Amino acid sequence: MTKIMDELRTETIELLSSLIGIRSENPPGSEDGIPEFIERYLADRDIDSERVPLENGRSSIVSRIAGRLPGSYVLCGHIDTVPAEGSQWTTNPFFAHREGRYLRGLGAADMKSGVAVLIALACDIKKRALALSHDIVLALTADEEGSYRGATSVASSGLIDDARFLLIAEPTGGAVYLVSRLLSLCSDGAGCGMVWHATTGSGSDVES
Ligand SMILES: [Zn+2]
Repeated sequence: MTKIMDELRTETIELLSSLIGIRSENPPGSEDGIPEFIERYLADRDIDSERVPLENGRSSIVSRIAGRLPGSYVLCGHIDTVPAEGSQWTTNPFFAHREGRYLRGLGAADMKSGVAVLIALACDIKKRALALSHDIVLALTADEEGSYRGATSVASSGLIDDARFLLIAEPTGGAVYLVSRLLSLCSDGAGCGMVWHATTGSGSDVES
């Protein structure tokens, strides 16, 4: 088990480093490098994806691993970051720097770390061919730092209509919020961000 965890940790850090190296600042909003990378990353691991277009150069991505029963568990995160300009970076914000037990880079906390963990988790489930009761769905959305239109377009795409609940890996300083049927799980990051994700089914929205 320790070996598996070490491998998973290493893969997740490498994945996070790759995501930090792909600019997805919003504004101006040009996140497509991220879903393009994720699409290839997942395809290499036999996981199919579907892009949900937002506008030119911008899209969200939804991927699914099949389970036995109807309904899905949706793992959700946003792929855009705040702009680097105006922040007090003393290092290249688009290069992942290890500093002790920390990894620094634009979006490392909010929320490419959460996105990397969700992707790594899905890939590990697929790799080990775990028997799932319900589908696992990755819903990674654009434009959270703007007008939340990526989440809205995913919610209205029909791709997550069967969601039983939705888990958001947004950093909130360690707090866990449970809203209606939707669960927001917080990563242990230092950042704090706002997230709004529309879902279908329960008709509920989340803001934290
Ligand atoms: Zn965020």
